[in-house]
Amino acid sequence: MEVVSQSYGDGAVPDLHTTLSVNLGAVIENSRHIRRLAPHSECAAMVKADAYGLGLKEISQALYKDGIRTFFVASLTEAVSLRSIVALDADVYVLNGYFSGQAAQYLKYQLRPVLNSLPQIECWLGDITGDSGALAALHIDTGMNRLGLSGVETDRLLADKNLMNTIRLSLLMSHLACADQPEHPYNKSQLEKFKAISTAFPGIPKSLANSAGVLLGEEYHFDMVRPGLALYGGAPCPPISPFENVFTAQGKVLQLREVDAGSSVGYGATHTFRDPARIATVNVGYADGYLQCFNGCGQVYFKGQQLSVLGKVSMDLLAVDVTAVPDRDINVGDDIELFGPHETLLAASRRGHISQYEILTLLGKRYKRSYKS
Ligand SMILES: *Cc1c(COP(=O)(O)O)cnc(C)c1O
Repeated sequence: MEVVSQSYGDGAVPDLHTTLSVNLGAVIENSRHIRRLAPHSECAAMVKADAYGLGLKEISQALYKDGIRTFFVASLTEAVSLRSIVALDADVYVLNGYFSGQAAQYLKYQLRPVLNSLPQIECWLGDITGDSGALAALHIDTGMNRLGLSGVETDRLLADKNLMNTIRLSLLMSHLACADQPEHPYNKSQLEKFKAISTAFPGIPKSLANSAGVLLGEEYHFDMVRPGLALYGGAPCPPISPFENVFTAQGKVLQLREVDAGSSVGYGATHTFRDPARIATVNVGYADGYLQCFNGCGQVYFKGQQLSVLGKVSMDLLAVDVTAVPDRDINVGDDIELFGPHETLLAASRRGHISQYEILTLLGKRYKRSYKS
């Protein structure tokens, strides 16, 4: 027996758009909370990768309006976009480094490179000759071994009086590898290395902490903190998180069906029903960033009620067990929360064994986005 429901509740034609609603007020509240946690430091905003997938324009505008004046992006392309969003009194840094021939764009849009190696420093200084107003950040690697001057390079820089006198820095920075694990010995080790190098750069603002680094305490704050995840409601250092959820991603019920005991659902028929059940097919899949890591383990919410994802997630669809929802309460076109106040980034990341960062940045382009302030 199979009954396919096509009832639209109130009889109106349903809007079947998936929705991503971003609460800019909550982003601001999170940034203010960081400012309270690090009251003697400037709070910069990491808005790389389209503000972690939530929208560079809206997020940056809101933070700028609330007084944030330093932004970091990954690439020069992202920085040029950001410059059309924030005025020239905001500093925009490009994390990925400086490459030959880019100077004209840096100068035109008044952007600042994060210099990640000695050759980058030399290249930058060579390309901007004559422009004494051009500022840059210097990134010292203290253990992450990703970007930034190595120990050997740092020693060579410090020994090169001419280079040290020529370079005009607005920031000295490093990046913590293990800040989400407060007890990890790397934290203290990176802190000590950064402090030692800092003494060679008197008067230059210093920055070490990402979101989790902010929570490590005042010693890690220096002159500027660089949160990303915390702004967007993630839990930088689980299990406790002082930051509030900032977005809700919802899909819509496309079909409701009843299945007999012994039936299965989805590709591979990986989930078989022991008892008769009801399934809601929802119009979100891995193409929307609801990845197959949630196969058979995802939890979604209907009017606050927790429901299980059944079987494999498809490209555009997933199946939800709505057996426990009274028949008349759920209809085609109804909203199903995938991530949001009930299914937080932290909760979903634990269930799917996926990072909170990946959930955020993979949120797909098909959601109808809305922003409230
Ligand atoms: C992405 C990034 C941050 C922000 O990290 P979160 O964990 O999201 O707070 C800070 N600093 C650097 C260099 C980064 O690349």
